[in-house]
Amino acid sequence: MLDQSLLDKLRAESVPPRGLFVGGKWRDARDGRTLDVVSPIDGRPIATIARGGAADIDDAVASARAAFESGVWSQAAPAERKKVLHRLADLIADNALELAVLGVRDNGTEIGMALKAEPGSAAGTFRYYAEALDKVYGEIAPTAPGVLGLIHREPVGVVAAIVPWNFPLMIGAWKIAPALAAGNSVVVKPSEIASLTLLRLAELAAEAGLPDGNLNVVTGEGAEAGEAMGLHMDIDVLAFTGSGATGRRLLDYSARSNLKRVFLELGGKSPNIVFADAPDLDQAAKVSANGIFRNSGQVCVAGSRLLVERAIHAEFVDRMKHHAEALKVGDPLDLSNDIGAVASDAQLARDLAAAARAEAEGAVRITGGTRLHWETGGYYMAPTIFDSVAPTMALHREEVFGPVLAVTPFDDEAEAVRIANGTDYGLAAAVWTANLSRAHRMVRAVRAGVVHVNTYGGADGTVPLGGHGQSGNGHDKSLHALDKFCNLKTAWMQL
Ligand code: NAD
Repeated sequence: MLDQSLLDKLRAESVPPRGLFVGGKWRDARDGRTLDVVSPIDGRPIATIARGGAADIDDAVASARAAFESGVWSQAAPAERKKVLHRLADLIADNALELAVLGVRDNGTEIGMALKAEPGSAAGTFRYYAEALDKVYGEIAPTAPGVLGLIHREPVGVVAAIVPWNFPLMIGAWKIAPALAAGNSVVVKPSEIASLTLLRLAELAAEAGLPDGNLNVVTGEGAEAGEAMGLHMDIDVLAFTGSGATGRRLLDYSARSNLKRVFLELGGKSPNIVFADAPDLDQAAKVSANGIFRNSGQVCVAGSRLLVERAIHAEFVDRMKHHAEALKVGDPLDLSNDIGAVASDAQLARDLAAAARAEAEGAVRITGGTRLHWETGGYYMAPTIFDSVAPTMALHREEVFGPVLAVTPFDDEAEAVRIANGTDYGLAAAVWTANLSRAHRMVRAVRAGVVHVNTYGGADGTVPLGGHGQSGNGHDKSLHALDKFCNLKTAWMQL
């Protein structure tokens, strides 16, 4: 049970200036530059982080490569790697509240959600891959008797991870844990908007016994440190979560450098499809409101398009309005609030602009569309619903990554599928129906990496998350994530 006075105590703690974590040591950026960390709770600076550049990325990659070549981690017995990753999971769990509050001060996520999604999920991810690492191994091919075909799985070498600001610890762990489990060295660049928790993770990893150089964290701007990673000649695999625009750049950097493998987890415009025969319309509305408004809509799989069967359209929009307006937005470290702050002033400006544009294009505002609590200096936005959003409007086609829902009615299953698949994206979807056959038909017909049925969100670490269409390639989570960080090698032997 969370305690308000404990939260208030933790939020008042000062955050020391943070350097880069390279080769197991803290240091400044080579050129000494720093970035201010501004808290979205009140718009005030809370710390400084190092502004790493190309020279720092060179150092981090060299340190990762040397650690890999040394074999201390890459050739350690699986049981040894397992022990360290379990210890790291324990340390994350032991420090969960401190990590969660640090993250909330950095990116504004409401504390209840942050605690579960960030340290909670990260600890689970390290445990999952600690357990997986000695259960996924090579194969003997079914060859003719005179030969032996062995398929070895080997670590790729140096893995780079570039992560966004919405859930840095969770998404960082989705990449770092399987990469380390497979025996690789890792260089991470957190988002310049939310770096603090991944810096703390590096410290905990060292405490858990991860050898120096196997996990390096370089903070800095995307166009500087991020670009240097993309163009680096000694990174083998780059795993990215973020926007499509950055994803395109990373593919270009790879083509212009060493053809490193690039895995992209990108955005979405996910359809949440409610049929008139949904088992419980009020529950569907409540979960759907949560599916778009939690974390101020800054969730890659957010159900940002609500498609409703025309027979229940007016009634369902009313229910959504009721649930949206019941959500209390405010200070993410105040336990009486349901939703915290938008992560940055730039993101808030994008959210408000998307709402203004929807109105200008003729969509009907049902609720929200405004900034809240501006007097605090923080970045807050009211849960926002627009109805009568035509498939041609920007709000139907473009990701906002904010608390803005587009509602569109449909007449039958075929039209629902057509509208659902009518964007460039394919990350997530949901279908609400009591008809089992229809549920299965929709799962097959809708283009998405995950289709929820009679729920929204909550898929755990045992199942993959990856985009179809322009939502990306490759998968985070599950045993499938290990494939990104392994090379297959064939040994073909004449007997
Ligand atoms: P972003 O693309 O702006 O930034 C993501 C990361 O890329 C940051 O670390 C940033 O510094 C870095 N970056 C920016 N420009 C770069 C460049 N030129 N070269 C290399 N790196 C660069 O995205 P964001 O605003 O941080 O995150 C929001 C986006 O992330 C949304 O589109 C959202 O849907 C997506 N997202 C996807 C998932 C998923 O699993 N599919 C999860 C969370 C967020």
